[in-house]
Amino acid sequence: LDRASDNELTAWDRDHFFHPSTHMAQHARGETPNRIITGAEGVYITDRAGKRSLDAFAGLYCVNVGYGRKTITDAIAAQAAALPYYHAYVGHGSEPSIRLAKMIIDRAPKGMSRVFFGLSGSDANETNLKLVWYVNNVLGRPEKKKIISRWRGYHGSGLMTGSLTGLAAFHNLFDLPKPPVLHTEAPYYFRRADRSQSEDAFSQTCADKLEELILAEGPDTVAAFIGEPVLGTGGIVPPPRGYWDKIQAVLAKYDIMLIADEVITGFGRLGSMFGSDHYGIRPDLITIAKGLTSAYAPLSGVIVSEKVWRILEQGSDEFGAIGHGWTYSSHPLCAAAGVANLELVDELGLVDNAREVGAYFRKGLADALGSHRHVGEVRGEGLLAAVEFVRDRDDRTFFDTSEKVGPRVAAAMLDNGVIGRAMPQADILGFAPPLCLTREEADVVVDAARKAVEGTL
Ligand code: PLP
Repeated sequence: LDRASDNELTAWDRDHFFHPSTHMAQHARGETPNRIITGAEGVYITDRAGKRSLDAFAGLYCVNVGYGRKTITDAIAAQAAALPYYHAYVGHGSEPSIRLAKMIIDRAPKGMSRVFFGLSGSDANETNLKLVWYVNNVLGRPEKKKIISRWRGYHGSGLMTGSLTGLAAFHNLFDLPKPPVLHTEAPYYFRRADRSQSEDAFSQTCADKLEELILAEGPDTVAAFIGEPVLGTGGIVPPPRGYWDKIQAVLAKYDIMLIADEVITGFGRLGSMFGSDHYGIRPDLITIAKGLTSAYAPLSGVIVSEKVWRILEQGSDEFGAIGHGWTYSSHPLCAAAGVANLELVDELGLVDNAREVGAYFRKGLADALGSHRHVGEVRGEGLLAAVEFVRDRDDRTFFDTSEKVGPRVAAAMLDNGVIGRAMPQADILGFAPPLCLTREEADVVVDAARKAVEGTL
């Protein structure tokens, strides 16, 4: 393979590789980028042609410690030599998976006590749904099964998790099961609030709409609410002031469980170890993935609260061992990567760095772009940021999606050597750089973004 020519690789790619989230026909015809990445160091990736780019999206919001971290690759290699695999069924385990579970609980919000491991954010959310239904069966309330998520939420692309995801592209043409999944208002102040509404008032509107939905469906039929502390793929949207308090008050009133999907926000991205701590969220279940291993190996998890755990124990006593698990749950190589990764996050002070450099970076973006006539909002939290484009700032009118404003700006920025992400279904340029970003690197990103916007719009 090393000796394959560029032309050969490109042909094999077009003819045989079914890429995720890709226009299949255009790719097969050679109309989409065919960038083969060969190496990476720090915050930079390098492609086969030798071009370096600053990866200001950390892959897909996941390479939090940056590339080329030898302590992680050494840990994976050492584990592969000692024990590449053993399963975790019926009480078995490997040392790194046990150690990692302890490290996660030590860092998790108060009240959490157990970790179930999977491989992707999607499968972890499938686990969450099964646990919610299992819990309500153990508690003798078989009708309480509906799950509420938000429009623009992203929770994966499996059968059930695709249903939770509130983005049309993940539903269209797939016959995803609809009930028992319901969607409620997105906490998207910039687009969804009346212009006269304060953030608090809009948060109240979101909570009222949630309560209306629960009452319309019947509180005895609603089991859980799932949400990302900050909406991620739906547009990188921090919640309006007061949102989580108001939502949690409604959930508590009707005894509805709360799943915090922290696949992006877990392990430091917002400048706190977890988004739940950042916003005072008290979840029953937390989804983790991405930053757990910084994507050096695939690993996800569900962090279970002690309260839920007690009911799961009760279920086992009544019905026997839980019928749920994957061959690769807590795979030793991935767990070894997780342990080394979390050690590095502490050692390098990356949670503090995300807070400090994040504030510096977002101020830089706001100073450079905030008053541009086609920029409606610059927003974010920690090292998660977005620039939203509008046709007209004053009228708050939007571009037509066929104008592809977001993708055009992202492409121009890539020409300037910086990778951001055109977020789907809106004109938004998103940033989620590695948490080790320096101020100098932040300046490079801001400068490339400014040039891209000025040159495109
Ligand atoms: N949940 C959130 C909040 C995500 O951002 C993602 C992926 O981006 C997922 C779940 C799904 O994770 P995966 O792609 O690993 O299945």
